[in-house]
Amino acid sequence: MPRPIEALIHTGALVNNLARARAAAPDARVWAVVKANAYGHGIERVFEGLRGADGFALLDLGEAERIRALGWRGPVLLLEGCFEARDLERCSRLDLWHAIHCDAQIDWLAAHKTKTPHRVFLKMNSGMNRLGFRPEALRTAWARLNALPQVDEISLMTHFSDADGERGIAHQLATFDAATHDLPGERSLSNSAATLRHRQVRNDWVRAGILAYGSAPDHPEHDIHHWGLQPTMTLRSKLIAVQQLQPGDTVGYGSTFVAERPQRIGIVACGYADGYPRHAGTDTPVLVDGVRTGTVGRVSMDMLAVDLEPVPAAGIGSEVTLWGRGPGGGLLAIDDVAAVADTIGYQLMCALAQRVPVRVTD
Ligand SMILES: *Cc1c(COP(=O)(O)O)cnc(C)c1O
Repeated sequence: MPRPIEALIHTGALVNNLARARAAAPDARVWAVVKANAYGHGIERVFEGLRGADGFALLDLGEAERIRALGWRGPVLLLEGCFEARDLERCSRLDLWHAIHCDAQIDWLAAHKTKTPHRVFLKMNSGMNRLGFRPEALRTAWARLNALPQVDEISLMTHFSDADGERGIAHQLATFDAATHDLPGERSLSNSAATLRHRQVRNDWVRAGILAYGSAPDHPEHDIHHWGLQPTMTLRSKLIAVQQLQPGDTVGYGSTFVAERPQRIGIVACGYADGYPRHAGTDTPVLVDGVRTGTVGRVSMDMLAVDLEPVPAAGIGSEVTLWGRGPGGGLLAIDDVAAVADTIGYQLMCALAQRVPVRVTD
């Protein structure tokens, strides 16, 4: 028998979450962001659940090819545009829309031979300072693009650094509006956090990433229940051993956990080589037979330990939910695990390891 660990992808939850994005931005079209192999879920595995989106946004030409191979004929957007001139060949062949964030990308386009002109998303740096033209350079870039026979429609985009937090988006929105108010074209500004939290932003297209995958972009201020989101990935395994500890016994590498009283613990077939965060210390939440309990001691490569005190009936073969849906309707949000491990839901789902078998369910 293989190791009992597996991941499940929930098609119905993807459908639900996409509907939440639509409800939050009723006047906009919705990009389903499927970069990083659909946030670790697998592009092919989420396609059924997300095909109701208006388009797919991603970074990698290989991933764009996979979306087309699935039969998707609608819009596909390269969020970072081309990485070198010859990428434009594949943009033409696959009919991709692409971001333009720097002058080099305009140079490549000007030298590109294409029969059909490209739809581009001109990216403005409104304060994030990763990609895009600064406000004072935007007009020149727009005019250059507008003069190119290789260019069809020009849309405008920017990205918020603090849509999930205290600083907010007002300063970036003001910068964007001041620099673009008299430019024509569709707008795409909002990521998940802005889509849910800042509904006054005018978008023709919102970019729904993390919300589609059932993680709250502004956790812990809000959780998935607040936003009506459902987990799209379950990571589950089983107990493969049980230990009865006596006071003074320690658990795992480094003996970071010391029992203070007699205690039963279970050993789970899941470790950091499966993508579980090694930095999750004692008391990271986990479900055993659907009952919430916590981890004990350090996570090792292939195993971790859990407290069985709240689940006295548990034994070898008991089901362990590391995140997602448990038996009997129990839910463990990936955000709750991430918070204890000092990271975010994004990182945990993206880090699901190759060796974990994955199944798509409803
Ligand atoms: C990844 C990404 C998104 C999606 O972000 P979420 O926080 O997951 O919604 C949106 N826009 C751009 C440019 C991105 O790179």
